[in-house]
Amino acid sequence: MFLRKTILTIAMLMAVPATPAVAADQWTPPSNLVRPLDEVWRHVESTYPNLYGFRNYGWDQIMANRGYINYCVRWDSSQPVSPALRDRVHAALSRQFKKWMDVQLENGQGYNNWPYREVPVKVVGWAVRDRNTLQWTDNSVDIYVNDIRENAPQCSEGCGRFFNQNGQYPRCPGGVARHYDMSLWLTAGMGGGFGGDWGQRIGSEYYVNSLDNDNIHILLHEIGHSFGLDDFYDWTPTGVCCFLMKAGSAAHITEFDKWMFRDFWRHLKNRWGL
Ligand SMILES: [Zn+2]
Repeated sequence: MFLRKTILTIAMLMAVPATPAVAADQWTPPSNLVRPLDEVWRHVESTYPNLYGFRNYGWDQIMANRGYINYCVRWDSSQPVSPALRDRVHAALSRQFKKWMDVQLENGQGYNNWPYREVPVKVVGWAVRDRNTLQWTDNSVDIYVNDIRENAPQCSEGCGRFFNQNGQYPRCPGGVARHYDMSLWLTAGMGGGFGGDWGQRIGSEYYVNSLDNDNIHILLHEIGHSFGLDDFYDWTPTGVCCFLMKAGSAAHITEFDKWMFRDFWRHLKNRWGL
Protein backbone atom coordinates (compact mmCIF):
# COMPACT_ATOMS: atom_id res chain seq x y z
CA MET A 1 0.00 0.00 0.00
CA PHE A 2 2.67 2.57 1.05
CA LEU A 3 4.98 1.43 -1.68
CA ARG A 4 2.29 1.76 -4.32
CA LYS A 5 1.38 5.27 -3.20
CA THR A 6 5.02 6.36 -3.41
CA ILE A 7 5.34 5.08 -6.95
CA LEU A 8 2.22 6.94 -7.97
CA THR A 9 3.56 10.17 -6.47
CA ILE A 10 6.83 9.89 -8.39
CA ALA A 11 4.94 9.16 -11.61
CA MET A 12 2.82 12.26 -11.13
CA LEU A 13 5.87 14.44 -10.49
CA MET A 14 7.47 13.19 -13.66
CA ALA A 15 4.33 13.81 -15.67
CA VAL A 16 4.03 17.44 -14.58
CA PRO A 17 7.45 19.08 -14.55
CA ALA A 18 7.71 22.32 -12.60
CA THR A 19 9.27 24.16 -15.57
CA PRO A 20 8.06 23.43 -19.09
CA ALA A 21 10.88 22.54 -21.50
CA VAL A 22 9.65 25.20 -23.93
CA ALA A 23 7.95 28.30 -22.56
CA ALA A 24 4.54 29.17 -23.90
CA ASP A 25 4.36 31.67 -26.71
CA GLN A 26 2.67 34.98 -25.98
CA TRP A 27 1.33 36.28 -29.29
CA THR A 28 -1.53 38.76 -29.40
CA PRO A 29 -1.27 41.06 -32.43
CA PRO A 30 -4.34 43.09 -33.42
CA SER A 31 -6.54 40.98 -35.69
CA ASN A 32 -6.06 43.33 -38.65
CA LEU A 33 -2.28 42.77 -38.53
CA VAL A 34 -2.31 38.97 -38.39
CA ARG A 35 -2.37 38.50 -42.17
CA PRO A 36 0.28 41.10 -43.10
CA LEU A 37 2.56 39.86 -40.29
CA ASP A 38 2.23 36.33 -41.62
CA GLU A 39 3.07 37.56 -45.12
CA VAL A 40 6.13 39.39 -43.82
CA TRP A 41 7.46 36.42 -41.92
CA ARG A 42 7.06 34.07 -44.87
CA HIS A 43 8.81 36.64 -47.06
CA VAL A 44 11.68 36.90 -44.54
CA GLU A 45 12.06 33.11 -44.41
CA SER A 46 12.13 32.75 -48.19
CA THR A 47 14.48 35.72 -48.70
CA TYR A 48 16.94 34.78 -45.95
CA PRO A 49 17.34 30.98 -45.86
CA ASN A 50 20.16 31.34 -43.29
CA LEU A 51 17.93 33.32 -40.94
CA TYR A 52 17.89 30.69 -38.22
CA GLY A 53 21.63 30.05 -38.46
CA PHE A 54 22.72 33.69 -38.37
CA ARG A 55 23.97 34.60 -34.90
CA ASN A 56 24.73 38.29 -34.93
CA TYR A 57 21.40 40.08 -34.91
CA GLY A 58 20.93 42.82 -32.32
CA TRP A 59 19.02 40.13 -30.43
CA ASP A 60 22.12 37.93 -30.22
CA GLN A 61 24.24 40.87 -29.11
CA ILE A 62 21.94 41.91 -26.28
CA MET A 63 21.46 38.36 -25.09
CA ALA A 64 25.23 37.69 -25.16
CA ASN A 65 25.78 40.81 -23.04
CA ARG A 66 22.90 39.94 -20.72
CA GLY A 67 21.07 43.16 -21.35
CA TYR A 68 23.17 46.04 -22.67
CA ILE A 69 24.62 47.19 -25.99
CA ASN A 70 27.96 48.86 -26.65
CA TYR A 71 28.69 51.21 -29.54
CA CYS A 72 31.68 52.67 -31.34
CA VAL A 73 31.18 55.99 -33.15
CA ARG A 74 32.93 56.11 -36.52
CA TRP A 75 33.33 59.83 -37.08
CA ASP A 76 33.69 59.90 -40.86
CA SER A 77 33.95 63.69 -40.97
CA SER A 78 36.51 66.43 -40.45
CA GLN A 79 34.10 68.59 -38.42
CA PRO A 80 35.33 69.12 -34.84
CA VAL A 81 33.48 67.41 -31.98
CA SER A 82 33.23 69.18 -28.64
CA PRO A 83 32.71 67.22 -25.40
CA ALA A 84 29.14 68.55 -25.35
CA LEU A 85 28.47 67.29 -28.88
CA ARG A 86 30.02 63.93 -27.99
CA ASP A 87 27.57 63.59 -25.11
CA ARG A 88 24.59 64.65 -27.22
CA VAL A 89 25.52 62.09 -29.89
CA HIS A 90 25.41 59.43 -27.19
CA ALA A 91 22.20 60.69 -25.58
CA ALA A 92 20.32 60.80 -28.89
CA LEU A 93 21.49 57.31 -29.78
CA SER A 94 20.28 56.04 -26.40
CA ARG A 95 16.86 57.66 -26.89
CA GLN A 96 16.39 56.20 -30.36
CA PHE A 97 17.59 52.73 -29.34
CA LYS A 98 15.21 52.82 -26.37
CA LYS A 99 12.25 53.33 -28.69
CA TRP A 100 12.83 49.88 -30.16
CA MET A 101 13.53 48.30 -26.78
CA ASP A 102 10.30 49.73 -25.38
CA VAL A 103 8.42 47.89 -28.12
CA GLN A 104 9.38 44.70 -26.28
CA LEU A 105 7.51 45.77 -23.15
CA GLU A 106 3.86 45.39 -22.30
CA ASN A 107 2.67 47.14 -19.14
CA GLY A 108 6.30 47.54 -18.14
CA GLN A 109 7.09 43.82 -18.45
CA GLY A 110 8.93 41.94 -21.18
CA TYR A 111 6.53 40.72 -23.86
CA ASN A 112 6.76 37.08 -24.85
CA ASN A 113 9.52 36.32 -22.32
CA TRP A 114 11.73 39.24 -23.39
CA PRO A 115 14.05 39.38 -20.36
CA TYR A 116 15.10 43.06 -20.18
CA ARG A 117 13.07 46.04 -19.06
CA GLU A 118 15.95 48.32 -19.96
CA VAL A 119 18.87 47.88 -22.35
CA PRO A 120 21.47 50.57 -21.60
CA VAL A 121 23.46 51.92 -24.54
CA LYS A 122 27.11 52.66 -23.85
CA VAL A 123 29.42 54.42 -26.28
CA VAL A 124 32.81 52.91 -25.48
CA GLY A 125 34.86 54.36 -28.31
CA TRP A 126 35.25 57.00 -31.01
CA ALA A 127 37.16 56.45 -34.20
CA VAL A 128 38.55 59.41 -36.09
CA ARG A 129 41.14 60.22 -38.75
CA ASP A 130 42.83 63.00 -36.79
CA ARG A 131 42.94 63.10 -32.98
CA ASN A 132 42.61 66.90 -33.04
CA THR A 133 39.08 66.57 -34.44
CA LEU A 134 37.96 65.40 -31.00
CA GLN A 135 38.13 68.31 -28.57
CA TRP A 136 38.36 66.50 -25.28
CA THR A 137 41.23 65.20 -23.23
CA ASP A 138 39.45 62.99 -20.71
CA ASN A 139 39.50 59.22 -21.11
CA SER A 140 35.77 58.58 -20.88
CA VAL A 141 35.87 56.73 -24.20
CA ASP A 142 38.59 54.85 -26.05
CA ILE A 143 39.88 56.82 -29.03
CA TYR A 144 41.12 55.15 -32.20
CA VAL A 145 43.03 57.27 -34.67
CA ASN A 146 43.44 56.55 -38.38
CA ASP A 147 42.47 52.87 -38.25
CA ILE A 148 40.89 52.89 -41.73
CA ARG A 149 38.49 50.32 -43.16
CA GLU A 150 36.03 50.93 -45.99
CA ASN A 151 37.74 54.31 -46.38
CA ALA A 152 36.50 55.42 -42.95
CA PRO A 153 37.92 55.39 -39.43
CA GLN A 154 36.92 52.44 -37.25
CA CYS A 155 37.45 51.30 -33.67
CA SER A 156 39.85 48.41 -33.14
CA GLU A 157 38.70 45.23 -34.86
CA GLY A 158 39.90 43.30 -31.81
CA CYS A 159 37.13 44.99 -29.83
CA GLY A 160 34.34 44.58 -32.38
CA ARG A 161 31.60 41.97 -32.14
CA PHE A 162 31.38 41.85 -35.96
CA PHE A 163 34.96 40.55 -36.02
CA ASN A 164 34.65 38.39 -32.88
CA GLN A 165 31.28 36.73 -33.10
CA ASN A 166 32.16 34.13 -30.49
CA GLY A 167 31.94 36.96 -27.94
CA GLN A 168 35.59 36.64 -26.85
CA TYR A 169 37.82 39.72 -27.12
CA PRO A 170 41.41 38.64 -26.37
CA ARG A 171 42.78 41.32 -28.76
CA CYS A 172 40.78 44.18 -27.19
CA PRO A 173 42.99 46.23 -24.81
CA GLY A 174 40.04 46.96 -22.52
CA GLY A 175 38.62 43.45 -22.76
CA VAL A 176 34.92 42.63 -22.82
CA ALA A 177 34.00 45.84 -20.96
CA ARG A 178 35.33 47.97 -23.83
CA HIS A 179 34.12 45.79 -26.68
CA TYR A 180 31.56 47.24 -29.09
CA ASP A 181 28.61 45.40 -30.58
CA MET A 182 27.66 47.98 -33.19
CA SER A 183 29.12 51.01 -34.91
CA LEU A 184 27.31 54.29 -35.34
CA TRP A 185 28.98 55.32 -38.58
CA LEU A 186 28.45 59.02 -39.30
CA THR A 187 29.53 60.07 -42.78
CA ALA A 188 29.83 63.68 -43.97
CA GLY A 189 27.68 64.53 -46.96
CA MET A 190 25.65 61.33 -46.91
CA GLY A 191 21.89 61.10 -47.43
CA GLY A 192 19.83 58.03 -46.52
CA GLY A 193 21.48 55.25 -44.58
CA PHE A 194 22.46 51.62 -44.14
CA GLY A 195 21.92 49.19 -41.30
CA GLY A 196 22.99 45.68 -40.43
CA ASP A 197 24.44 43.48 -37.74
CA TRP A 198 27.53 45.74 -37.77
CA GLY A 199 25.51 48.83 -36.83
CA GLN A 200 24.09 51.83 -38.65
CA ARG A 201 25.50 54.32 -41.12
CA ILE A 202 23.84 57.72 -41.68
CA GLY A 203 24.87 61.25 -42.61
CA SER A 204 26.83 63.14 -39.96
CA GLU A 205 25.11 66.46 -40.80
CA TYR A 206 21.67 64.81 -40.78
CA TYR A 207 22.37 63.25 -37.38
CA VAL A 208 23.86 66.36 -35.78
CA ASN A 209 20.95 68.47 -37.06
CA SER A 210 18.44 65.91 -35.72
CA LEU A 211 19.90 65.40 -32.24
CA ASP A 212 16.98 67.07 -30.49
CA ASN A 213 14.27 65.45 -32.62
CA ASP A 214 11.89 63.03 -30.95
CA ASN A 215 12.27 60.66 -33.91
CA ILE A 216 15.54 60.48 -35.85
CA HIS A 217 13.74 58.38 -38.37
CA ILE A 218 16.61 57.30 -40.64
CA LEU A 219 18.53 56.05 -37.60
CA LEU A 220 15.41 54.30 -36.29
CA HIS A 221 14.91 52.59 -39.65
CA GLU A 222 18.53 51.43 -39.76
CA ILE A 223 18.41 50.11 -36.18
CA GLY A 224 15.40 48.08 -37.35
CA HIS A 225 17.69 46.40 -39.91
CA SER A 226 20.20 45.58 -37.16
CA PHE A 227 17.48 43.48 -35.54
CA GLY A 228 16.71 41.71 -38.81
CA LEU A 229 13.80 43.76 -40.13
CA ASP A 230 13.67 43.94 -43.92
CA ASP A 231 13.06 46.71 -46.48
CA PHE A 232 9.86 46.99 -48.48
CA TYR A 233 11.02 48.53 -51.74
CA ASP A 234 9.17 46.11 -54.00
CA TRP A 235 6.08 44.94 -52.13
CA THR A 236 3.61 45.97 -49.43
CA PRO A 237 1.95 43.60 -46.96
CA THR A 238 -1.84 43.40 -47.25
CA GLY A 239 -3.75 46.19 -45.57
CA VAL A 240 -0.87 48.30 -44.20
CA CYS A 241 0.12 51.44 -46.04
CA CYS A 242 2.67 53.25 -43.96
CA PHE A 243 5.33 52.13 -41.57
CA LEU A 244 8.94 52.97 -40.66
CA MET A 245 10.53 50.01 -42.43
CA LYS A 246 8.77 50.99 -45.66
CA ALA A 247 11.16 53.85 -46.30
CA GLY A 248 9.56 57.23 -46.84
CA SER A 249 6.08 56.21 -45.65
CA ALA A 250 6.43 56.87 -41.90
CA ALA A 251 8.87 58.72 -39.66
CA HIS A 252 8.33 56.80 -36.41
CA ILE A 253 7.89 53.24 -35.18
CA THR A 254 4.28 52.32 -36.02
CA GLU A 255 2.08 49.59 -34.61
CA PHE A 256 2.99 47.40 -37.58
CA ASP A 257 6.74 47.96 -37.06
CA LYS A 258 6.27 47.08 -33.40
CA TRP A 259 4.63 43.75 -34.21
CA MET A 260 7.20 42.90 -36.91
CA PHE A 261 9.90 43.52 -34.30
CA ARG A 262 8.14 41.33 -31.74
CA ASP A 263 7.64 38.67 -34.42
CA PHE A 264 11.39 38.50 -35.04
CA TRP A 265 11.99 37.91 -31.33
CA ARG A 266 9.21 35.31 -31.29
CA HIS A 267 10.94 33.31 -34.01
CA LEU A 268 14.44 33.51 -32.49
CA LYS A 269 13.77 33.30 -28.76
CA ASN A 270 14.05 29.53 -28.56
CA ARG A 271 17.81 30.05 -29.13
CA TRP A 272 17.89 30.96 -25.48
CA GLY A 273 15.26 28.47 -24.31
CA LEU A 274 12.71 31.26 -23.90
ZN1 LIG B 1 16.25 50.08 -45.21
